[in-house]
Amino acid sequence: MEAAGGLASPGRQTSSIIQMELPTLYAWRGQRLRALAAGKKAMAAYLLFAAGLVDWQRAWLEKEPLPPPDSPAPLAVDWQNRPLAPTSGMETGYWRAALDDLLASCADKLAANRAANLTKKIAAIDEAAVLALLAGDITLTGTDGAPFLWAALSLYWAQWARARPLAVRELVGAARDLCPLCGAAPVAAVVAAHPHDGLRYLRCSLCESDWRLVRAQCSACGQSGKLRYWSVDEEKGIHSESCGDCMSHLKILEQNNNPGLEPLADDLASLSLDAFMEEQGFARSGLNPFLFSEH
Ligand SMILES: [Zn+2]
Ligand SMILES: [Zn+2]
Repeated sequence: MEAAGGLASPGRQTSSIIQMELPTLYAWRGQRLRALAAGKKAMAAYLLFAAGLVDWQRAWLEKEPLPPPDSPAPLAVDWQNRPLAPTSGMETGYWRAALDDLLASCADKLAANRAANLTKKIAAIDEAAVLALLAGDITLTGTDGAPFLWAALSLYWAQWARARPLAVRELVGAARDLCPLCGAAPVAAVVAAHPHDGLRYLRCSLCESDWRLVRAQCSACGQSGKLRYWSVDEEKGIHSESCGDCMSHLKILEQNNNPGLEPLADDLASLSLDAFMEEQGFARSGLNPFLFSEH
């Protein structure tokens, strides 16, 4: 597959935050999911389903972009207060309309009973269900409804995160386990290619921003004394960093060796590494929007 250019792709960057342009990101992700589906027959159907959701995000963004903000005042990022953290009283009109459009665009591709079930579930989604999902609780949305709702919410948050200039205040020693803009967990990490050669960034699962974290430090608890690195033969260019202090692991994609690797797509397609890490006693700290489970 032709490399999409990794984190060097068009977008904007501060010293420690990179935001790829969304059309570029969605095109790359859709292409990568299809390439992975072609090589991983057992997962192909689900990877293509995910590619369909990404295609919809790209189409909706082009058709109905979020209106510009009333005030162009910079968004203050200080690594402590997350300026775009979900709160009650949020504006629901945009993502609700997006979600309805997504469901309509998918309905004819789903089995009739699944479409009916999903439609009912999604119609009942309210602010409480959204806040619960964003906090990792899928009781109200279910494993089948969660990827649809997340796709609509992410499209909203990703535009919102890019709508105003960023005013980043660096704070040495601040926790970097969660996105400094929206507070969501990372999907995975990348070791970046040119022009950020060798630097590690974490990709936000909700607003699609990348934030820098030094290497050889646990992305979940910040400790560095009991880190180990693991890989499996099936997953080229991906390894996992485990931490014996908090017993978590997070995948790291070596974009410096293969700029075509895409965090969400390649995390989703490398479940054999997750299974292996689970056998070693480590729990995933990353959140993949297409991979919600009941526990
Ligand atoms: Zn974020
Ligand atoms: Zn840790």
